[in-house]
Amino acid sequence: MRDWFRFLNRRQFLGKTAVVSAVAHLLPGARPASGLRAAAGFPQNHIYAKLGVRPVINGLATATRVGGSLMPPEVVAAMEEAGKYFVSLPELHEKAGRRLAQLIGVEAALVTTGAAGSMTLGTAACVTGADPQKISRLPDTSGMKNEIIMQKSHRSGYEQQMLLVGTKIIEIETREQLESAITPRTAMLFFLNIGDPNGQIKRAEWVAIGKKHAIPTFNDAAADLPPKSRLSEYVKMGFDLVGFSGGKGLHGPQCSGLLLGRKDLVDAARINASPWGGTIGRGMKVGKEEIMGLLAAVERYLKIDHEAERRELEGRIREITQVLSSIKGLKTEIYVPEIANHVPHLAIEWNRTQLKMTSQDVSEQLLKGEPSIELAGRNWGRHKPKNAEPENPELQGLTVCVWTLRPGEPKIVARRLHEILAPKPGRT
Ligand SMILES: *Cc1c(COP(=O)(O)O)cnc(C)c1O
Repeated sequence: MRDWFRFLNRRQFLGKTAVVSAVAHLLPGARPASGLRAAAGFPQNHIYAKLGVRPVINGLATATRVGGSLMPPEVVAAMEEAGKYFVSLPELHEKAGRRLAQLIGVEAALVTTGAAGSMTLGTAACVTGADPQKISRLPDTSGMKNEIIMQKSHRSGYEQQMLLVGTKIIEIETREQLESAITPRTAMLFFLNIGDPNGQIKRAEWVAIGKKHAIPTFNDAAADLPPKSRLSEYVKMGFDLVGFSGGKGLHGPQCSGLLLGRKDLVDAARINASPWGGTIGRGMKVGKEEIMGLLAAVERYLKIDHEAERRELEGRIREITQVLSSIKGLKTEIYVPEIANHVPHLAIEWNRTQLKMTSQDVSEQLLKGEPSIELAGRNWGRHKPKNAEPENPELQGLTVCVWTLRPGEPKIVARRLHEILAPKPGRT
């Protein structure tokens, strides 16, 4: 799990794949794959095209780097309506938060800039409470509770979001270490939802220890939708604060998120943020459009038929596997990650000696092609047990997130994969 998580957060962002993506159009080999241009991409004169920006087929995930998710018409309409009039932002924040809390079934809610913004504001709330003097002093936390405790295996690359409040992170591994790390300086116990299988201390125990010591617990559940029941599940389980992305599974505005949980803490988070000046969160502004867009997204999401969605996604997967089935030695499998991105994905796997291609080769060709296609790596979203057998290094593979494909794109992804992977005469 840690591997794919790092793959998503680091390698694809900083590593070779990302570099290829960023410069693909400059590479000498970048020529359009036959006949695909007409079938995909932006309409003529699209505002992206006018900038010279290339279209991307997103078979990766609801990943921020490629635009998160696409907003359904009701979300766009709400943002447009919201943009036509002036309102008091503090009033809107409070009333939209109240409505969201009611809809979701939690005590309180705040619209943030994203799950990452929720981490910062949630941390600030735990450090300052509602004390205006403390709020105005951040990131100077001298004399305040300023230590965050987390399991070592729950590191994800989002720690800066808590450190910028002026906190220090204490890493532990066992329950005994946690109990002895807790001091009067402890502000918050941070939990990475997706890290649950990797840590020795599971969700329920984490919550129980927080309650025992009266220290707020925070769960970063950014991408853990669907199912919609998870919107309230972790708060009901006892986490004091839970963060979600608005621009991932919820299909809200890309720069939106939710902070859910205990009213006193959510209230404290709100006054640590924009529009209030002199706060650590002033730079994490959500506008009236994002607030109303996210509210519309949540209203829509609570009515969604997950079963119908699953059938639709499996249909897209079948469309791709039918095209790939003629490639001897290529294995396909439907895979649903347990935690986060809990929708059917297509895993493809092959042996490098048989098909003469590595995963990297295929990724690069997909990225360089026209339109550019981004897929996730092999075993994306899968939990790898610590003492798992070492794998056969000949095994190669990729994962297709069909959830983020636009109409017509499953066919294009299938054709491109076939073009690249089908053995060609003369290739040795
Ligand atoms: C995506 C993600 C984030 C960041 O979420 P944003 O909504 O982009 O701020 C934080 N934590 C995890 C586990 C994520 O997957």
